[in-house]
Amino acid sequence: MRIVLLGPPGAGKGTQAENLTKIYGVPHISTGEMFRTAVKEETPLGLEAKKYMDAGELVPDSLTIGIVKERFLKSDCAKGFLLDGFPRTLAQAEALDQMLEELDVQLDTVLNIDVPEEDLLIRLTGRQICRQCQAPYHKAFKPAQKEGICDLCGGQLYQRDDDSEATVLSRLEVYNRQTSPLISYYADSSRLTTVSGDGSVQEVTDRVKAALENLQ
Ligand code: ADP
Ligand code: ADP
Ligand code: ZN
Repeated sequence: MRIVLLGPPGAGKGTQAENLTKIYGVPHISTGEMFRTAVKEETPLGLEAKKYMDAGELVPDSLTIGIVKERFLKSDCAKGFLLDGFPRTLAQAEALDQMLEELDVQLDTVLNIDVPEEDLLIRLTGRQICRQCQAPYHKAFKPAQKEGICDLCGGQLYQRDDDSEATVLSRLEVYNRQTSPLISYYADSSRLTTVSGDGSVQEVTDRVKAALENLQ
């Protein structure tokens, strides 16, 4: 199974990826998570990426494409993958097509999770992430059983710096300008499947599963 999860920040890509990797047994590749790890470890990549992330902007294509290329070399990708948050620009989408061609594989589909813009701000400003395993929670919509503690690993939950209202607004603007053109890029090559991301997490997972089963 080779899938790209597309959608604005807050659409539920990470949340759905958590369920889907369990179902399909393929690695969850999140460029955002890879960058956050690099920032935490203060690697040269992390120090460079942080400047853009703090401003709610995209990290330059060359760096982003480089980390995905490297990740694809790992053996777990042979079974497939779930790409979350990549590609986010036309140049990244074209680079991904080239990588797939070199590997002689194709995407099963690009899953576009569609959520009304007014819901995104509420989802993002209430989001909490596990410091240890990065699982996403929400103060109101997906609260942890024990406040501030991850249900899965017992790690501490925190709010991402870039989930402040001001940075969220610029990320949404960046999405509309730089990422939303990918919807027609993939529709034009008949690789797009759009599902509504409205409703509960489970409802969306059921919708996604049905859409993926329909492909085969
Ligand atoms: P993305 O990876 O697309 O940025 P996340 O999966 O991190 O989005 O979800 C953003 C926030 O919205 C998180 O706090 C998550 O718990 C919450 N969320 C995800 N799916 C839903 C849903 N169907 N209904 C309500 N809240 C949701
Ligand atoms: P969200 O889904 O909430 O927007 P991510 O965790 O996917 O957040 O990404 C966080 C930040 O990491 C982005 O705002 C951006 O600065 C950077 N980033 C992640 N993926 C990419 C990408 N494919 N291209 C450029 N920058 C990226
Ligand atoms: Zn955890």
